[in-house]
Amino acid sequence: MEKVIVVGGSVAGGFTAYKLAKNFDVEIIEEHSHFKKTCSGILTDPINNLIDIRPSIIENKIKKFRIYAPNNDFLELKFKKPDIIFNREKLNEYIVDIAVKDGAKLRQNTKFIKTQRGKVLLKSDNKEFSVNTNYLIGADGSLSAVAKSVDLFLHRNFFLAAKSIIKMENDNTIEVYPHFGCFSWVVPRTEDEVEVGTMSHYTDSQAFTRFLQKFNNQILSKEASIIPIYSPKIKTYKKFNNISTYLIGDSATMAKATTGGSIMQSLTAAKILADCIINNEDYEKKWRAAIGNQLYLHLKIRKALDKFKAEDWNELIKLLKDEKIKQILETKSRDNPYFIFKMMFLKPSLIKFSKVFLRNRNFF
Ligand SMILES: Cc1cc2nc3c(=O)[nH]c(=O)nc-3n(C[C@H](O)[C@H](O)[C@H](O)COP(=O)(O)OP(=O)(O)OC[C@H]3O[C@@H](n4cnc5c(N)ncnc54)[C@H](O)[C@@H]3O)c2cc1C
Repeated sequence: MEKVIVVGGSVAGGFTAYKLAKNFDVEIIEEHSHFKKTCSGILTDPINNLIDIRPSIIENKIKKFRIYAPNNDFLELKFKKPDIIFNREKLNEYIVDIAVKDGAKLRQNTKFIKTQRGKVLLKSDNKEFSVNTNYLIGADGSLSAVAKSVDLFLHRNFFLAAKSIIKMENDNTIEVYPHFGCFSWVVPRTEDEVEVGTMSHYTDSQAFTRFLQKFNNQILSKEASIIPIYSPKIKTYKKFNNISTYLIGDSATMAKATTGGSIMQSLTAAKILADCIINNEDYEKKWRAAIGNQLYLHLKIRKALDKFKAEDWNELIKLLKDEKIKQILETKSRDNPYFIFKMMFLKPSLIKFSKVFLRNRNFF
């Protein structure tokens, strides 16, 4: 059997390993022994089409959603299908577990160092050793050592993201504040605990501190991390020293620039990557055809939203209260933002927001 080394035992690596395990000798290399990731674990309903979910890894399901404007006006939506709030650690364990059950090996406490003379150099217990492989998959997150080692890292940009769990009784409603930093959220975890978080540009590094000041509640935990900004220029395949090397998930910058979410995109790309390796097809072409355009549109929307002033947000939230628009927002998946064109068609007054795109002519 041909050998596949997957670097990173998180969602992207675990799911790729699961999809390849029956056809290849797959080994997951994970630097840590215990999985821990700064992530909210919020996913939309189409996750059910990708993976069989074990109920015990779900913390909450939420149908009610409020989007706030700077003037405190808000739009309330009731999704037809609830958002699913996962225990992120358990989601990860579950995905790696199904990969291992199907035959993948998991090597923890082992770090990928680099590729060297056609082999993969790893480090464990302070000792370096090299292994042969036919395929190398970089699912090792935002600062991917695999991407760096095969010269695919290039120049990348990142968002800052931070979150806290706070004590707060709530009515099981997700609240989002798209004018705060780049995007801020309040997501109920239990009846009396919520997660509050903020994604922001590096130029606004105090956004989370400001957002947290809105809440006068007991803070139970605080974490911060980074999220890659999708870059269509990053290549995700290279044959390097005879090893076919692929990037996936955060290591390939597959994150939505509107909200920072990327689990759905990583899982979708993992399935495509496995199919491409099994059938000897063009991964770069296939994943871009499936999710590249969506990610590009999220990036363009982000650039437009960054130009919004408080009055723009206030006006937009007011316009979105139209019943026909609400119906679209309540039924369409946020992962695929093409529904905004339908909204503009149904409510032409929304088209004027395209003027915000024009404030920067380099968008398209
Ligand atoms: C605050 C915050 C909230 C978020 N909320 C959501 C959300 O609600 N919904 C959503 O869809 N997305 C969310 N995201 C994004 C999501 O968490 C990540 O995009 C997703 O985890 C990416 O998965 P990945 O498998 O590509 O990489 P990662 O989850 O980063 O995993 C990379 C793995 O590789 C391992 N690794 C790294 N380097 C090496 C090495 N050299 N050798 C061996 N192992 C290595 C790491 O230990 C890690 O286990 C959030 C992100 C943040 C920061």
